[in-house]
Amino acid sequence: SHQVPNEPEFQQARDEVYVTLQPLLEKKPEYKRALEIIEIPERVIQFRVVWETDSGEVRVNTGYRVQFNSALGPYKGGLRLHPTVNLSVLKFLGYEQVYKNALTGLSLGGGKGGSDFDPKGKSDREIRRFCMAFMRELSKHIGADKDVPAGDIGVGGREIGYLFGAYRRQRNEFAGILTGKGGDWGGSLIRPEATGYGLVYYVEEMMKHAGNTDFTGKRVLVSGSGNVAQYAALKVIELGGFVLTLSDSKGSLVSNDSRGFTKADIGAIAELKLARKYLIDWYNASSELQSRFTYHEGARPWTLVQKVDVALPSATQNEVSGEEAKALVAAGCKYVAEGSNMGCTKDAIDVFEAARLAAKDGEAVWYAPGKASNCGGVAVSGLEMAQNSQRIKWTSEEVDARLKQIMINCYQNCFDTAKLHVQDGAGLPSLVAGANIAGFLKVAEAMRDQGEWW
Ligand code: NDP
Repeated sequence: SHQVPNEPEFQQARDEVYVTLQPLLEKKPEYKRALEIIEIPERVIQFRVVWETDSGEVRVNTGYRVQFNSALGPYKGGLRLHPTVNLSVLKFLGYEQVYKNALTGLSLGGGKGGSDFDPKGKSDREIRRFCMAFMRELSKHIGADKDVPAGDIGVGGREIGYLFGAYRRQRNEFAGILTGKGGDWGGSLIRPEATGYGLVYYVEEMMKHAGNTDFTGKRVLVSGSGNVAQYAALKVIELGGFVLTLSDSKGSLVSNDSRGFTKADIGAIAELKLARKYLIDWYNASSELQSRFTYHEGARPWTLVQKVDVALPSATQNEVSGEEAKALVAAGCKYVAEGSNMGCTKDAIDVFEAARLAAKDGEAVWYAPGKASNCGGVAVSGLEMAQNSQRIKWTSEEVDARLKQIMINCYQNCFDTAKLHVQDGAGLPSLVAGANIAGFLKVAEAMRDQGEWW
């Protein structure tokens, strides 16, 4: 795997895949050629976005779309609006998206895009103007059969609406060119819930297998408080688990009792986040909350609870360090599944995988990588595309049932692939190796069939 020192996040994502593919590459060296080719995006588009503030000043940001791989279908993957966005971050996200989309079993290629624009503190009008300026260029490169972006950090229903409207007016065309759309204009039911729900469905399968258990009474740490975290928390609560933490970029809220957040709390947090406010604003405004929770400024949740069953990182990349992973293992955590993309650092994955390998039956720590455990979001985006193509709309029950089946299949695929290719002697197979090998094989085979390597 060649080195790209100026793209550390991309290097990290690639190294993880490279290392976990070794058992396959040793058996079948011809795949080394395929890997070398897959590691380079088919196309990277980078552009200027000029927009105007409410006070009439000119602002400029960089826009991107990384069209990574289209062997399995149109490029598909979210748009991120966050000041930390750069080419390395979007290439890492796009690369993982390629394998993730393969794991959904749907016809989806992989891509990712966004801008270093910071939506925080911007007015609705500024967001709208930015979205229109961004789409003016992006519209030249996307299409229902070409590239279908979605939301990600900083891009929710409101932004998708502005972006879709901009495309429709600029092109005089109503087409399924984005997913995560509003329910009355092409959106799928369950898309907002899909990543969080899917994450929990995936962990349910892990629990069934590893401990013959379920979420009832489990102590669950969730980080983040955005789209993924909110719906993961709601599903955990629905299944009888206790959500003891949530966090945002300013700090963490930790429950003082064993019951944790209620559904009503999550509803209030959803409103707070729609108004782009912080957990600390919510906490400071109520003495009842101050008695139920403790706020830890600037801290992440992982070291703040002494007894833990499940950890669901759901905020952003590299949000669990090696030290924090050790603290989770020491607190008894048995299941770690990423809602976020590359939520765990390499050091953290090493800690969890070592704990899996060292464990005796029933004591193992089991880690699921985001490209498997968070694929529910893009999967329902794929279902949104299917509904758009047919100009019909499925019920929530139908979409939810399909989502659940996709997550079960994805889990089983990771499990079986690891069992088949990785003989590490542990009781539980490596889901990170299984996910990478299964995703890679599917994409590599499609590319070979299509004459992209031989
Ligand atoms: P949101 O923007 O809705 O929420 C992001 C949350 O993470 C917010 O609570 C935010 O805090 C926090 N956060 C963001 N950046 C940082 C940071 N640098 N440090 C600390 N906290 C941070 O995004 P999503 O919920 O959609 O995405 C969360 C993760 O899930 C991302 O990794 C994303 O790529 C991944 N994902 C999302 C999917 C989806 O369908 N939405 C699908 C698959 C993966 P604050 O509120 O203070 O900004």
